[in-house]
Amino acid sequence: MTFETLGLSQPVVQALALKGYDTPTPIQAQAIPHLLEGRDLLGIAQTGTGKTAAFMLPSIDRLVAADKRPRPRCCRMLILAPTRELAGQIAESARDYARFSHLKVVTVFGGTSVNKNRQDVARGVDILVATPGRLVDLTEQNALDLGHVEILVLDEADQMMDLGFIHALRRIVKMVPTERQTLFFSATMPPAIRTLAGQFLTDPAQVAI
Ligand code: AMP
Repeated sequence: MTFETLGLSQPVVQALALKGYDTPTPIQAQAIPHLLEGRDLLGIAQTGTGKTAAFMLPSIDRLVAADKRPRPRCCRMLILAPTRELAGQIAESARDYARFSHLKVVTVFGGTSVNKNRQDVARGVDILVATPGRLVDLTEQNALDLGHVEILVLDEADQMMDLGFIHALRRIVKMVPTERQTLFFSATMPPAIRTLAGQFLTDPAQVAI
Protein backbone atom coordinates (compact mmCIF):
# COMPACT_ATOMS: atom_id res chain seq x y z
CA MET A 1 0.00 0.00 0.00
CA THR A 2 1.16 3.57 -0.73
CA PHE A 3 -0.01 7.02 0.28
CA GLU A 4 -1.27 7.56 -3.29
CA THR A 5 -3.52 4.51 -3.13
CA LEU A 6 -5.06 5.93 0.07
CA GLY A 7 -6.20 8.89 -2.03
CA LEU A 8 -3.80 11.62 -0.91
CA SER A 9 -2.75 14.39 -3.32
CA GLN A 10 0.64 14.70 -4.97
CA PRO A 11 1.79 17.76 -2.96
CA VAL A 12 1.22 15.85 0.29
CA VAL A 13 2.82 12.66 -1.05
CA GLN A 14 5.85 14.69 -2.16
CA ALA A 15 6.17 16.28 1.27
CA LEU A 16 6.15 12.77 2.75
CA ALA A 17 8.78 11.57 0.29
CA LEU A 18 11.07 14.40 1.47
CA LYS A 19 10.76 13.02 4.98
CA GLY A 20 11.52 9.54 3.67
CA TYR A 21 8.09 8.06 4.40
CA ASP A 22 6.76 5.77 1.66
CA THR A 23 4.57 3.27 3.52
CA PRO A 24 1.54 4.22 5.63
CA THR A 25 1.51 3.00 9.24
CA PRO A 26 -1.57 0.94 10.29
CA ILE A 27 -3.42 3.92 11.77
CA GLN A 28 -2.71 5.96 8.64
CA ALA A 29 -3.97 3.16 6.39
CA GLN A 30 -7.16 2.79 8.42
CA ALA A 31 -7.95 6.43 9.19
CA ILE A 32 -7.00 8.36 6.05
CA PRO A 33 -9.75 7.02 3.71
CA HIS A 34 -12.47 7.87 6.28
CA LEU A 35 -11.02 11.32 6.89
CA LEU A 36 -10.77 12.14 3.18
CA GLU A 37 -14.49 11.37 2.97
CA GLY A 38 -15.12 13.93 5.69
CA ARG A 39 -16.15 11.46 8.39
CA ASP A 40 -15.69 12.09 12.09
CA LEU A 41 -13.17 9.75 13.69
CA LEU A 42 -12.67 8.12 17.08
CA GLY A 43 -9.07 6.91 17.22
CA ILE A 44 -7.69 4.78 20.02
CA ALA A 45 -3.97 5.12 19.49
CA GLN A 46 -0.79 6.05 21.31
CA THR A 47 1.82 8.58 20.28
CA GLY A 48 4.48 6.90 18.13
CA THR A 49 1.96 5.14 15.86
CA GLY A 50 2.02 7.87 13.21
CA LYS A 51 -1.27 9.40 14.30
CA THR A 52 -0.17 12.98 13.68
CA ALA A 53 0.28 12.28 9.97
CA ALA A 54 -2.93 10.21 10.02
CA PHE A 55 -4.94 13.32 10.89
CA MET A 56 -2.79 16.02 9.24
CA LEU A 57 -2.43 14.58 5.73
CA PRO A 58 -6.12 14.18 4.80
CA SER A 59 -6.97 17.44 6.58
CA ILE A 60 -4.40 19.37 4.52
CA ASP A 61 -5.90 17.88 1.35
CA ARG A 62 -9.45 18.79 2.39
CA LEU A 63 -8.49 22.35 3.33
CA VAL A 64 -6.66 22.88 0.04
CA ALA A 65 -9.52 21.33 -1.98
CA ALA A 66 -12.08 23.64 -0.32
CA ASP A 67 -9.87 26.73 -0.55
CA LYS A 68 -11.56 29.79 0.99
CA ARG A 69 -11.27 33.27 -0.46
CA PRO A 70 -10.99 35.54 1.31
CA ARG A 71 -9.45 33.26 3.88
CA PRO A 72 -10.62 33.78 7.45
CA ARG A 73 -7.92 35.32 9.59
CA CYS A 74 -8.25 32.47 12.07
CA CYS A 75 -8.56 29.52 11.53
CA ARG A 76 -9.85 26.57 9.46
CA MET A 77 -8.36 23.72 11.48
CA LEU A 78 -7.96 23.65 15.25
CA ILE A 79 -5.86 21.01 16.97
CA LEU A 80 -6.00 20.76 20.77
CA ALA A 81 -3.19 19.01 22.62
CA PRO A 82 -2.48 18.58 26.35
CA THR A 83 1.08 19.93 26.57
CA ARG A 84 3.28 22.55 24.98
CA GLU A 85 5.72 19.79 23.95
CA LEU A 86 3.07 17.89 22.02
CA ALA A 87 1.58 21.08 20.54
CA GLY A 88 5.05 22.06 19.33
CA GLN A 89 5.69 18.65 17.77
CA ILE A 90 2.32 18.64 16.00
CA ALA A 91 2.95 22.12 14.60
CA GLU A 92 6.39 21.11 13.36
CA SER A 93 4.98 18.03 11.61
CA ALA A 94 2.09 20.05 10.19
CA ARG A 95 4.53 22.57 8.66
CA ASP A 96 6.52 19.74 7.07
CA TYR A 97 3.44 18.03 5.62
CA ALA A 98 1.92 21.32 4.39
CA ARG A 99 5.15 22.62 2.83
CA PHE A 100 3.76 22.48 -0.74
CA SER A 101 0.51 24.22 0.21
CA HIS A 102 -0.14 27.85 1.19
CA LEU A 103 -1.51 26.77 4.59
CA LYS A 104 -0.06 28.61 7.55
CA VAL A 105 0.47 26.86 10.88
CA VAL A 106 0.59 28.72 14.21
CA THR A 107 0.94 27.32 17.70
CA VAL A 108 -0.16 28.89 21.01
CA PHE A 109 0.44 27.43 24.44
CA GLY A 110 0.84 28.46 28.06
CA GLY A 111 4.16 29.67 29.43
CA THR A 112 4.81 31.88 26.39
CA SER A 113 3.97 35.52 25.74
CA VAL A 114 0.25 36.16 25.22
CA ASN A 115 1.14 39.27 23.22
CA LYS A 116 3.27 37.19 20.86
CA ASN A 117 0.35 34.74 20.46
CA ARG A 118 -1.95 37.65 19.65
CA GLN A 119 0.45 38.98 17.02
CA ASP A 120 0.98 35.54 15.46
CA VAL A 121 -2.76 34.94 15.19
CA ALA A 122 -3.43 38.45 13.86
CA ARG A 123 -1.07 37.81 10.94
CA GLY A 124 -3.35 35.01 9.73
CA VAL A 125 -3.52 31.32 10.51
CA ASP A 126 -5.08 28.35 8.72
CA ILE A 127 -4.06 25.59 11.14
CA LEU A 128 -3.92 26.50 14.83
CA VAL A 129 -2.33 24.10 17.32
CA ALA A 130 -3.16 25.03 20.91
CA THR A 131 -3.27 23.90 24.49
CA PRO A 132 -6.82 24.36 25.84
CA GLY A 133 -6.05 26.77 28.70
CA ARG A 134 -4.15 29.29 26.59
CA LEU A 135 -6.74 29.07 23.83
CA VAL A 136 -9.55 29.94 26.25
CA ASP A 137 -7.48 32.89 27.56
CA LEU A 138 -7.06 34.20 24.01
CA THR A 139 -10.75 33.84 23.16
CA GLU A 140 -11.65 35.70 26.37
CA GLN A 141 -9.45 38.56 25.17
CA ASN A 142 -11.20 38.45 21.78
CA ALA A 143 -7.81 37.71 20.20
CA LEU A 144 -9.32 35.07 17.94
CA ASP A 145 -12.61 33.85 16.60
CA LEU A 146 -13.27 30.11 16.33
CA GLY A 147 -16.34 30.58 14.14
CA HIS A 148 -14.57 29.45 10.95
CA VAL A 149 -13.22 26.11 12.15
CA GLU A 150 -13.95 23.32 9.67
CA ILE A 151 -11.85 20.58 11.26
CA LEU A 152 -11.44 20.10 15.03
CA VAL A 153 -8.89 17.62 16.42
CA LEU A 154 -8.66 16.59 20.07
CA ASP A 155 -5.35 14.81 20.52
CA GLU A 156 -4.55 12.77 23.64
CA ALA A 157 -8.01 13.45 25.05
CA ASP A 158 -7.34 11.25 28.09
CA GLN A 159 -4.30 13.39 28.98
CA MET A 160 -6.31 16.58 28.53
CA MET A 161 -8.93 15.20 30.95
CA ASP A 162 -6.22 14.19 33.46
CA LEU A 163 -4.75 17.68 33.32
CA GLY A 164 -8.13 19.20 34.20
CA PHE A 165 -8.96 20.67 30.80
CA ILE A 166 -12.51 19.32 30.64
CA HIS A 167 -14.18 22.72 31.19
CA ALA A 168 -11.87 24.42 28.71
CA LEU A 169 -12.64 21.69 26.14
CA ARG A 170 -16.38 22.10 26.57
CA ARG A 171 -16.09 25.87 26.22
CA ILE A 172 -13.97 25.58 23.09
CA VAL A 173 -16.28 23.04 21.45
CA LYS A 174 -19.20 25.45 22.03
CA MET A 175 -17.30 28.17 20.14
CA VAL A 176 -16.62 26.15 16.97
CA PRO A 177 -19.38 25.62 14.40
CA THR A 178 -21.55 22.53 14.90
CA GLU A 179 -21.13 21.87 11.17
CA ARG A 180 -17.56 20.57 11.22
CA GLN A 181 -15.42 17.44 11.02
CA THR A 182 -14.24 16.24 14.45
CA LEU A 183 -11.37 13.87 15.20
CA PHE A 184 -10.93 12.52 18.72
CA PHE A 185 -7.79 10.61 19.71
CA SER A 186 -7.06 8.95 23.02
CA ALA A 187 -4.60 6.28 24.13
CA THR A 188 -7.20 4.88 26.54
CA MET A 189 -10.99 4.81 26.35
CA PRO A 190 -12.48 4.60 29.88
CA PRO A 191 -16.24 5.34 30.16
CA ALA A 192 -15.79 9.07 30.92
CA ILE A 193 -13.72 9.56 27.77
CA ARG A 194 -16.12 7.54 25.65
CA THR A 195 -19.02 9.69 26.92
CA LEU A 196 -17.12 12.87 26.08
CA ALA A 197 -16.28 11.53 22.62
CA GLY A 198 -19.98 10.72 22.09
CA GLN A 199 -20.85 14.35 22.87
CA PHE A 200 -18.31 15.82 20.44
CA LEU A 201 -18.54 13.36 17.52
CA THR A 202 -21.25 12.59 14.97
CA ASP A 203 -21.46 9.02 13.63
CA PRO A 204 -17.67 8.53 13.85
CA ALA A 205 -15.61 5.91 12.09
CA GLN A 206 -13.53 4.08 14.69
CA VAL A 207 -9.94 2.91 14.49
CA ALA A 208 -8.05 1.16 17.26
CA ILE A 209 -4.33 0.40 16.99
P1 AMP B 1 3.36 10.23 15.91
O1 AMP B 1 2.68 8.98 16.40
O2 AMP B 1 2.46 11.05 15.07
O3 AMP B 1 4.00 11.00 17.02
O4 AMP B 1 4.56 9.76 14.92
C1 AMP B 1 5.63 8.98 15.37
C2 AMP B 1 6.86 9.14 14.49
O5 AMP B 1 6.73 8.38 13.28
C3 AMP B 1 7.14 10.56 14.06
O6 AMP B 1 8.52 10.80 14.18
C4 AMP B 1 6.71 10.59 12.60
O7 AMP B 1 7.40 11.57 11.90
C5 AMP B 1 7.03 9.19 12.14
N1 AMP B 1 6.16 8.70 11.04
C6 AMP B 1 4.85 8.99 10.84
N2 AMP B 1 4.37 8.35 9.77
C7 AMP B 1 5.38 7.61 9.26
C8 AMP B 1 5.49 6.70 8.15
N3 AMP B 1 4.44 6.43 7.35
N4 AMP B 1 6.69 6.12 7.92
C9 AMP B 1 7.74 6.38 8.74
N5 AMP B 1 7.70 7.21 9.80
C10 AMP B 1 6.54 7.82 10.08
